[in-house]
Amino acid sequence: MSILQSIIYKMSHTAVVIHKEKITHSTYHIRIKLKTDSFKNYIPGQHLRIIVGLVDNSSLSNMVRTYSVWRYDELRNEADIAICIFSNGQGAKWVQTLEKGDTIYFRGPEGKFTINPDADNHLFYGDISSLAHLYELNRNTGISKKASGIIYSSAKTHYFDDLSSKRNFGFLEAPENPADDIITEISWNGIPKGNTTVYIAGETAFCVALHNYFKKEHGFLPKQIKTKPFWHPNKKGLE
Ligand SMILES: Cc1cc2nc3c(=O)[nH]c(=O)nc-3n(C[C@H](O)[C@H](O)[C@H](O)COP(=O)(O)OP(=O)(O)OC[C@H]3O[C@@H](n4cnc5c(N)ncnc54)[C@H](O)[C@@H]3O)c2cc1C
Repeated sequence: MSILQSIIYKMSHTAVVIHKEKITHSTYHIRIKLKTDSFKNYIPGQHLRIIVGLVDNSSLSNMVRTYSVWRYDELRNEADIAICIFSNGQGAKWVQTLEKGDTIYFRGPEGKFTINPDADNHLFYGDISSLAHLYELNRNTGISKKASGIIYSSAKTHYFDDLSSKRNFGFLEAPENPADDIITEISWNGIPKGNTTVYIAGETAFCVALHNYFKKEHGFLPKQIKTKPFWHPNKKGLE
């Protein structure tokens, strides 16, 4: 084992894979049993930095990938993750070889793509790789708050349901970066009145287009628009 590898192992939290299921042609559901109290300060909407390539000769850019916490069960100290394989990158390859009983190494949870507790309405927009993240936010808006959202992908078969049903998202079958189509849908449905926060995730160009739309067309203030690019064409492991 190289010095870099042993340092990474020592600095990481560990968990054991207790469930693995291919829930659609393009997504795996993984449940992990946490070995430590790494989630004691977990805020819904945070992500993990998982080591997916700690093998000899693996470059740094191939070692770590970012995946959101889909749900955290505090009583059991277990977490669910949904990992897509559209990319065919190191993370996609790693999840396909992962087996029940394997140990995984990660940093986190961390991140600020979380619920704005002051908002009365929440709007969610993203692709399939952000679906688990948006489900976790959607379940944690608070009982009295209103929420809706639209998820897009090139095929409806990519869509998967949440672990516990609450409110469903709408689905738009569209090619990559269908910002214009989603903006048309939003215009038809209208923006709720009152204190609204919008959450935008997925491919960078999609995030930028929707961010600009809410800022310029609806006068949303920066604190009302939470944007998190999840991937960028031809770029490995965005964060
Ligand atoms: C905060 C955050 C949370 C995230 N949560 C999740 C999550 O819960 N589940 C999940 O599946 N992903 C999630 N992602 C996205 C994931 O980290 C990236 O998709 C990552 O690039 C996948 O790594 P990879 O090794 O499979 O592909 P890479 O080696 O990183 O990329 C290989 C190629 O595939 C392209 N690519 C990467 N992702 C996609 C995609 N989704 N669709 C099409 N092409 C792609 C890249 O641009 C590149 O050209 C999250 C990202 C962030 C920033």
